[in-house]
Amino acid sequence: MEKIYRELEEIVGAQYVSNHAEELFIYSRDMGTMLPSRPDLVVMPNSTEEVQKTVQVANREGIPIVPMGGGLVLSGLTRPLKGGIVLDLKRMNRILEVNEISRYAVVEAGTSQGMLQAYLKKHHPGLKHSIPDAPPTATLGGNVLIHGSGHLSLTAGFHSEMCNGMEVVLPTGEIIRIGSCSISPYWFSRAPLPDLAGLFMGWAGTTGVVTKLAVKLYPDHPFNDARIFITEDPALVPDVIHRMSGVQVGEDMTVAVNYRPGRSQVFPLTIINYGAETKEELTWKRNLIRESVRKYIDDRTGGFVPAPPSRRQAMLQAPNTTLTQFADTKRGGGFEYVGSIMPIELFAEAYQAGVTISNRFDIVNGMGARVIGLGHCMMFFYGYPFNRADESDVERARNALEASNEAALKLGGVPWKAEAPAQKQILKYMDPNTYSFMKRIRAALDPKGIMNPGNWEMD
Ligand SMILES: Cc1cc2nc3c(=O)[nH]c(=O)nc-3n(C[C@H](O)[C@H](O)[C@H](O)COP(=O)(O)OP(=O)(O)OC[C@H]3O[C@@H](n4cnc5c(N)ncnc54)[C@H](O)[C@@H]3O)c2cc1C
Repeated sequence: MEKIYRELEEIVGAQYVSNHAEELFIYSRDMGTMLPSRPDLVVMPNSTEEVQKTVQVANREGIPIVPMGGGLVLSGLTRPLKGGIVLDLKRMNRILEVNEISRYAVVEAGTSQGMLQAYLKKHHPGLKHSIPDAPPTATLGGNVLIHGSGHLSLTAGFHSEMCNGMEVVLPTGEIIRIGSCSISPYWFSRAPLPDLAGLFMGWAGTTGVVTKLAVKLYPDHPFNDARIFITEDPALVPDVIHRMSGVQVGEDMTVAVNYRPGRSQVFPLTIINYGAETKEELTWKRNLIRESVRKYIDDRTGGFVPAPPSRRQAMLQAPNTTLTQFADTKRGGGFEYVGSIMPIELFAEAYQAGVTISNRFDIVNGMGARVIGLGHCMMFFYGYPFNRADESDVERARNALEASNEAALKLGGVPWKAEAPAQKQILKYMDPNTYSFMKRIRAALDPKGIMNPGNWEMD
């Protein structure tokens, strides 16, 4: 390891390799319930070439290597389960190009959400990207690669769908480009070429290191508003989503249904955000949204409610900090959620499963959903804040998360950014031919098995 340490110092500079106990401590854990796992080294490259050389060393020596962005995924995916190198990409945070006309930005993968948001505000005020509600230090690379979602997901789907192309360092050290940028100086699209992006999205860093990517940009409207629709019955929510999304004027739609054990009645709140170029357009959109759910207003099973000023402010902000505040309700620095991608018609069943889990483990469950695409599916989440200093609290959250993953799979959903044990649960449900195809792809890309081993592990 001493020789490798020196070699890595040569590649990235002495300041950017570490085996200090304090740093290894930090990089061995995240805010979630997964147990810590210590790396041997942390390396912070500054360029694609430095990533390439580091990967070549790891590949030659058979050392595990775990790519990391903001480390905020919560499900322990950046803990090095088999030791080795954590490759922290935060120094690779340059915004390389903004194409105003074709509306995309090319960034290094370690660029944070907050940096791109601030840069666009300052230099391209008419444009924005879709922002997740994660803390702003979450990276573009980390979020796109886990199929994240955010403030424009009702308009445009998963963040992975808003990615026009990528540059990737393969586990064997070659640098490849995916999408139009493999042929042209423009990063405008992944179509019409064979779409190789799927070899790297959803794989939790087990197939390569993405070093650059292009994300789509959208108009940043000067006028914005959000409305809250309340229904008595969770069973009505799918139709409310279907109707409201169907008028195609919203940018983001979320549903909140927090549950506390022992509480009998909850009212799901459906929040829709929309923007416009003029006040008249905003009013027109507001009316369209209202009329889309007229049926429920007339039969008095639902209606719009005004938001209290503090909530209204949070609703119009990106990121919306409501979830971050909820994450810290136990004041113990622990939070993890199961996000599960499923059809919107499963909303009531998913909610009912969450109530059962909450009562069974006596734990507060911050449930809700973000609608993806025009109601094409949703990310239904079960969120559990816990106190990291209280082992029984951590254990309750861990059990509730496991039960939530199982419930989502039983209903027909797919856990998102699944932690290693949940990946195993998913693989049990998977069609056997798909399973063996995934295994072959992984072996072909990473013959020495160095990339984030312990994740998407197949027998
Ligand atoms: C309060 C809170 C709210 C959240 N809200 C949202 C939300 O609204 N929407 C949402 O999508 N997420 C949300 N999240 C989840 C998560 O924080 C984000 O998805 C975040 O963007 C993940 O990015 P990251 O840079 O932290 O990724 P990391 O945690 O660093 O990495 C995630 C995975 O990607 C891999 N990876 C990272 N970078 C690379 C790379 N360059 N090449 C190859 N593999 C790589 C890692 O190995 C890991 O497997 C939330 C989290 C919190 C704490």
